[in-house]
Amino acid sequence: MNLEERIADYKLDSPRVSRFSEERFLLFLEDVTAVFDGFKALDIEALGIGHNELRVIIGPNGAGKTTLCDVVSGKTRPTTGNVYFQGKDITHETETDIALMGIGRKFQTPAVFDSLTTYQNMELALPGHQRLWSNLYASVTAEENDRILEILERVGLADESDTEAKYLSHGQRQWLAISSLILSNPKLLLVDEPAAGLTDSETELTAELLLELKDDHTIIVIEHDMDFVRQLNSFVTVLNEGKIMAEGTMEEVQENEEVIEAYLGR
Ligand code: ADP
Ligand code: MG
Repeated sequence: MNLEERIADYKLDSPRVSRFSEERFLLFLEDVTAVFDGFKALDIEALGIGHNELRVIIGPNGAGKTTLCDVVSGKTRPTTGNVYFQGKDITHETETDIALMGIGRKFQTPAVFDSLTTYQNMELALPGHQRLWSNLYASVTAEENDRILEILERVGLADESDTEAKYLSHGQRQWLAISSLILSNPKLLLVDEPAAGLTDSETELTAELLLELKDDHTIIVIEHDMDFVRQLNSFVTVLNEGKIMAEGTMEEVQENEEVIEAYLGR
């Protein structure tokens, strides 16, 4: 199925109608709200993300995009509603348990340790290695080493293996943060504004990387940069005032009057 067909299929058998279907969706939000001091930051009737889908979420500032990530990753408990992942209700699981289940998150500011090399940053991100600060060098198995090198190769950081992270470009830091996320092989990747502050060529490479990762992961990308979103050529969900305002291809949502107004209105 191409993108247009997939979106048509999604709309025809809309998640609002079909409700949760484990077969169709890796992640599903049902009647989810997040209320802060009486203010509804998030109000989603139904949102389904398919297996191995790359979904882009856009929306003006304050639309609730980060809150959506917080709710999925367990950082924020929804006020009402349920979040399902792989058919399991994860609404009341802790952030740590949700991460262990296979949801990885890259924050807007990448968590990279400046004084460690690219390789050391990867070592530290190996599952179960967070407590090994004291003997960082003692504990990488041949298998883990292979995996680190394979991922660094894939994101174009193999030559920077021994470079301290502080000398990496902004784009390379973003790729290192994404790389350390994939080390634990999450099924779902939440990527918050990966193109923020990148050069055009770095933005292009980031889009290529995400499209490549889609083969093995389901990915939700939160993004502001419209050129970047166009390069991803994926299903777009527009959030506004906590609600889903439109869904479709980038071309479709860009022509949507409500969307235009919401963007211009601020
Ligand atoms: P976006 O990422 O789309 O810019 P956010 O999800 O960060 O939007 O925020 C949506 C709204 O919810 C904003 O008005 C923000 O101030 C509010 N909000 C988010 N998190 C909290 C919180 N922990 N406490 C109070 N208000 C919050
Ligand atoms: Mg945000």
